[in-house]
Amino acid sequence: MYSTNYEIAALVLSVLCLVYSLTANRRQYIPPKGLKNKLLDQHFVFILMVLANIFSAIVSVGGVYLETLGRAELGDWKYLLHASYFVFHSTLSVSFCIYVMNVNGTSMGRSKRFYRLFLTPYLLTELLVLTNGFTHLAFYMDENIVYHRGVLMPVLYASGGFYVALGFYFFFRYKRAVSRADSITIGVVMGLATLGTVIQAVWSHLLLELFCEALASLALMVLLEERSGHLDVVTGALNRAAFADANRRLIANRQSYSLVVVSLTDLETFSALFSGREVEELLMDVASWLTKLSSERDLYCFRRTSFAIVCGEGAPRGADELADEVLRRFEGEWTVRGMAFRLCAGVCVIRVPEDAPNGAVLQELLTSEALNVGGTRRVSVAELSAQLRDHRVEALLRRAVEEHRLRVWYQPIWSSEAQRTVAAEALLRVEDDELRKISPEEYIPIAEKTGLIREIGLFVFEEVCRFLRFERDRLQGLEYIELNLSIYQFMYGDLVSRFEEIRRHFGVSVDKLNLEITESASTRETPAITEALERLRALGYTLSLDDFGTGYSNLMQLISSSYKNVKIDKSLLWDAEHNPTTAELLESLIRVIRSLGCNVVQEGVETEAQLGYATDSGSNLIQGYYFSRPVPQETFLGYLKTEAEQSQLPLP
Ligand code: C2E
Ligand code: MG
Ligand code: MG
Repeated sequence: MYSTNYEIAALVLSVLCLVYSLTANRRQYIPPKGLKNKLLDQHFVFILMVLANIFSAIVSVGGVYLETLGRAELGDWKYLLHASYFVFHSTLSVSFCIYVMNVNGTSMGRSKRFYRLFLTPYLLTELLVLTNGFTHLAFYMDENIVYHRGVLMPVLYASGGFYVALGFYFFFRYKRAVSRADSITIGVVMGLATLGTVIQAVWSHLLLELFCEALASLALMVLLEERSGHLDVVTGALNRAAFADANRRLIANRQSYSLVVVSLTDLETFSALFSGREVEELLMDVASWLTKLSSERDLYCFRRTSFAIVCGEGAPRGADELADEVLRRFEGEWTVRGMAFRLCAGVCVIRVPEDAPNGAVLQELLTSEALNVGGTRRVSVAELSAQLRDHRVEALLRRAVEEHRLRVWYQPIWSSEAQRTVAAEALLRVEDDELRKISPEEYIPIAEKTGLIREIGLFVFEEVCRFLRFERDRLQGLEYIELNLSIYQFMYGDLVSRFEEIRRHFGVSVDKLNLEITESASTRETPAITEALERLRALGYTLSLDDFGTGYSNLMQLISSSYKNVKIDKSLLWDAEHNPTTAELLESLIRVIRSLGCNVVQEGVETEAQLGYATDSGSNLIQGYYFSRPVPQETFLGYLKTEAEQSQLPLP
């Protein structure tokens, strides 16, 4: 005797699943248009599975009930219920397979031919069941209305088994396309369904199969559907978890797609002025406009103020077109409770895999702050990456400062008059494998923007003072050391007093130090800079004008500020080598500077020819790789020693 308890339980569970799936958290669920799109929609297929389970349970319970009545005249009904069971149950196995394929994305981008082949076993079994009334090949009822398996019944089982096996295959083959948690859920669900089938095969009277399948649906609903299909509570767009799942799936299946990312940049200001409800209404307005724009595609709200539209290949409108439309819309106004506002949005199109070859890179790009600066505008992926790089460099630099991995290296400055090294420039170096590959020209501006320059500047100053104090016997008459001073260091009011404190602590005479400021900094003089420079001068510090010839060369400024040295930028020298006009300009510049009583330091001298040219044209100090690259302290002391020894050798 069959027991229908489990089947009734399966029915109740499945109905609950259906009701919950269609109502709670899913009020806005609208299945996509077109059969293929429906079948590619994870939630739609889930509902199909639940429905198949419900109908299977109804007909199964009905069948057992009729069996208990045992009346011969109900034979046709019994037949009908058996046939319906096969129809619904085979729908369950095929929809389960499609569900797994939707979860891990293997259903995407398949050809029509694939789907035709894929559905063939299912359609054949349905045909077999529907024509069974004439053929009796699947099953038949004997004269006592007793059910018997027909010769082709194994075909029905084989078809069901085929889809379950295919589901297993796609699950294991593309496991990395789903998160670990989802993968465990699907694994458990598959195990549960298989267990039910095995138990029913062994103890057929238990009718446990549908119950296990209903339990499996429940598990899927709670653990997977709820999360991956979850909507953002405020905007009604798909939420962050759904976005992460979609990207993982698309990337693991090597799909090419674009994301139109829209970030509301000034919502925080808006939030400060209005109530939470008004801000939410505004967000909802923006989301519903974006939903209409994306039409068939999914809109995700992956951060409170950031949206993304996923554009697959072959979408009717390209991502760039959508991005332009978003920008046009944000030029107009948004209305909340009768009040009109302008909102700013940064819009960026990220192409996968071109811009983001993997999920980690994509994730990083999406966290870039570059989208949130500069008002309504199109932001390039290059900008996102540059911001991220700055961010990374800042973190590396910060760590290096904390871990005391900053170093000061020295590059000699050679005097053509004294024919020896008379000074050196102190240059910052960081003991870090990654930062070593990056020029200070790149990380100094980052240090300036982030305030790290204050600490770095003081460190370099202290190191140079320590060097001058403790190595004074090995300096071979070195007259002074040049230090680079960033304009941003002047922003800190205690710069001069800190320098003085350090200098006095080491007992270093002020004429042993010479401060380099860049030309651009000197032309941007603000009261803070002017005041600090005046105080430094009053204390006896001398100054060099660095990188002369690169920025806005202001001769008046050069004349009015008394610089000890003017350092001609290397680019001017290198250009002068091939360009007679630059050469002429350079020579006259040097004449003017020398006539003002300043020394001229030529930077970037790498070859003997450049050395000859630089000295011939009037530079009296030379700095460049020709003599030495910047080197660590000990190496520099060795260099000075060797130079001193060589100068004492008798001339050949
Ligand atoms: P800078 O002050 O103009 O320093 C001279 C730069 O030219 C150094 O680059 C030096 O290595 C390079 N150089 C010298 N001779 C040659 C040559 O013959 N050929 C070539 N190709 N390059 C040569 P470095 O050390 O990479 O520093 C770059 C810039 O970073 C510096 O330019 C300076 O503006 C900044 N910087 C370095 N250290 C510090 C520091 O401690 N504080 C501040 N504020 N800025 C620093
Ligand atoms: Mg310099
Ligand atoms: Mg320079």
